[in-house]
Amino acid sequence: MSGVTLTKAIKKYGDLEVIHGVDLQIDHGEFCVFVGPSGCGKSTLLRMIAGLEETTDGQIEIGARDVTAMDPAERGVAMVFQTYALYPHMTVEENMGFGLKMTGHPKAEIQEKVSEAARILKLEPYLKRKPKALSGGQRQRVAIGRAIVRGPEVFLFDEPLSNLDAELRVDMRVEIARLHKDIGATMIYVTHDQVEAMTLADKIVVLRAGNIEQVGSPMELYANPGNKFVAGFIGSPS
Ligand code: ADP
Ligand code: MG
Repeated sequence: MSGVTLTKAIKKYGDLEVIHGVDLQIDHGEFCVFVGPSGCGKSTLLRMIAGLEETTDGQIEIGARDVTAMDPAERGVAMVFQTYALYPHMTVEENMGFGLKMTGHPKAEIQEKVSEAARILKLEPYLKRKPKALSGGQRQRVAIGRAIVRGPEVFLFDEPLSNLDAELRVDMRVEIARLHKDIGATMIYVTHDQVEAMTLADKIVVLRAGNIEQVGSPMELYANPGNKFVAGFIGSPS
């Protein structure tokens, strides 16, 4: 079981505190979406869970493990970024298998996992191509494939669709929902898109200036926004 628990999590950059003691429980298998205005700390919080930013104070647990001081590679998480972050000189296949190769997994196992991810994401025809010969949507699929291949307990997505055009965003949103259903892993997803938040989330966390403003299911937040700020983000009329 690998939910994620934050306890009084604080992040400071030098003297500037940007995450002010966040308490949050994300259940195993839950699809949790962080929303909030630019600069409110969505990416920072996600990167703290990933271990890409040090947690200044407080605690982060994944399942029963205290990961607060662990290296990213030991946490059992995989992150998908807005900018894909693919290696331009490697093929799709090599990009997806690279993480496992670096951690010394046997070739046959890597091949099997890459094939499985390629099947899930309909990337089979593109395995021998380099990223520059792919569309934006295909590149983002490869980035998601790279995460799947690592078999993480927790997937972290930082605005993964915001570089895609509107039509493709809808397709990818449906695929991400399907992926969540298929593999049942815990997913934490940052977006500023209300429709993505409302359609993907089991739980929405509304952030404002480094604090949690409200947490609830899409229906709860829509029906009972705590204030105008939350209502503005969720799109309810009150
Ligand atoms: P969001 O993802 O919600 O747009 P961020 O998590 O990127 O917000 O940023 C939260 C706050 O932390 C912002 O005020 C931002 O300027 C600040 N911040 C982010 N990264 C750094 C950094 N490396 N050094 C100093 N301040 C940072
Ligand atoms: Mg961000």
